Amino acid sequence: MSDDGPTPFDAVIVGAGPAGSATAIQLARAGWSVAVVERQGFPRRKVCGECIAASNLPLLHALGIGDAFDAAAGPALTEVTLMAADAAVTAALPPAGWGRHRWGRALGRETLDSLLLEQARAAGATVLQPWALQDIGGAPGHWHCDIRSPQGLPPRRLQARVMVDAHGAWQALPAQREQQRRGRSAADLFAFKAGFQRSALRAGAIAVLALDGGYGGMVVGDGDLTTLACCIRRDRLNALRSRTPGQAVGEVVEAFLRRECAGVRDALRGAERAGPWLTAGPLATGVRLDAVQGIFSVGNAAGEAHPILGEGMSMALQSAVLLCRELLGASSPSQPPLPSRPSPVPGAAEQAAMQRRYVAAWRRDFLPRLRLAAAFAHVAMRPAATALLLQAARRWPGLLTQGARWGGKVRPVEAMHLAPAWPAGARVAPKDAGPSRPSNKESA
Ligand SMILES: Cc1cc2nc3c(=O)[nH]c(=O)nc-3n(C[C@H](O)[C@H](O)[C@H](O)COP(=O)(O)OP(=O)(O)OC[C@H]3O[C@@H](n4cnc5c(N)ncnc54)[C@H](O)[C@@H]3O)c2cc1C
Repeated sequence: MSDDGPTPFDAVIVGAGPAGSATAIQLARAGWSVAVVERQGFPRRKVCGECIAASNLPLLHALGIGDAFDAAAGPALTEVTLMAADAAVTAALPPAGWGRHRWGRALGRETLDSLLLEQARAAGATVLQPWALQDIGGAPGHWHCDIRSPQGLPPRRLQARVMVDAHGAWQALPAQREQQRRGRSAADLFAFKAGFQRSALRAGAIAVLALDGGYGGMVVGDGDLTTLACCIRRDRLNALRSRTPGQAVGEVVEAFLRRECAGVRDALRGAERAGPWLTAGPLATGVRLDAVQGIFSVGNAAGEAHPILGEGMSMALQSAVLLCRELLGASSPSQPPLPSRPSPVPGAAEQAAMQRRYVAAWRRDFLPRLRLAAAFAHVAMRPAATALLLQAARRWPGLLTQGARWGGKVRPVEAMHLAPAWPAGARVAPKDAGPSRPSNKESA
């Protein structure tokens, strides 16, 4: 095993989804030496509905990818339609309060995640990709982690003072796989996604699908591509698959969605699927903030909401802001970190106190969203409960609008209190540009 030498990284971040890259950008801008370990090569498609709530747009600008996002993302999302069987109710989405960032938009994860990771690289982070974390040992101040290259390079050991887990939720770390196998249940949710060209879905509308034994969503994103994503219970999926043995699971799911929901049927009439169905799961919704003592976790690694509200990327980006505010010594918005010198890396005792404050802030900001998403998901998966919700939404369409508000869609985020760039503002580097701070860089 080769070692990265006596000088540890200030922080190692595992995973380059929105949570990992947003953390890396902020820590690297504050002058920390940062390594990001990502197991997949980018760009890569990902199971996700791909809607970014309006609350995150100022944040994306502060992270340095706002202009690229504005140029690439799909149309402004101004309304929501709840679809179940042959019924549909439409309501306005609430606008957010910021001039040009009033509405959410959808952008493919192959683009969004690449933009964020390039920005982390441009800010000075070392990107190890594709490399997969195998194991973590040590304690705050003295972490070490073993990483493996899928390309057969010799394994490596990295050292870090601060360890950040941003590995998401669907690919369990090797140590968690046995536990995951033992915890199987009929209610486990599996997630699916495909893109469609030339759908008839109204641009600017988010369709929320209530299914018997699942839920989903459709939206028109970048390049006029309609993303269709859904979650289906294990027992429902097994029953569907047993009716058409040998058929690919994506085909089974697509047939089910078209059969079950008139809104999907209508939207996909004449549409053409772009690429294969992607699958992931089982989902592990809930809070796992302190899964490993002393390791800071962000995004889905910290806690996962039922994706029916489409708030997972908000929680990923916003938890990265909360964490970096703690780590960089700006625990209150009135104390942004100083741009003039690198922020000191906290010692073990300081990290413990930061962990406590971060966990409290995380629970305050995200638990209500987790609970609302769970309640909505359980209603949407039961046709009788959905019928009551549709009735109520028809009578009071403001209910769906208010639901989006409660779900965090337009909750202001204090993006202006992100760590300022150190030593100078970083911009997204062109695709082939070399690293901006060579001492921190290496290629995989
Ligand atoms: C069906 C569905 C629809 C959704 N729709 C929406 C939506 O419309 N809007 C929204 O905001 N959210 C949505 N979400 C949720 C959103 O996709 C997630 O919440 C979000 O991706 C979490 O970001 P993250 O950075 O925490 O993790 P991820 O995006 O999962 O990134 C984790 C990264 O870590 C890497 N990784 C994993 N294991 C290792 C390892 N051992 N070593 C190194 N790297 C590793 C992975 O390759 C990955 O790139 C949806 C989810 C589902 C399932």
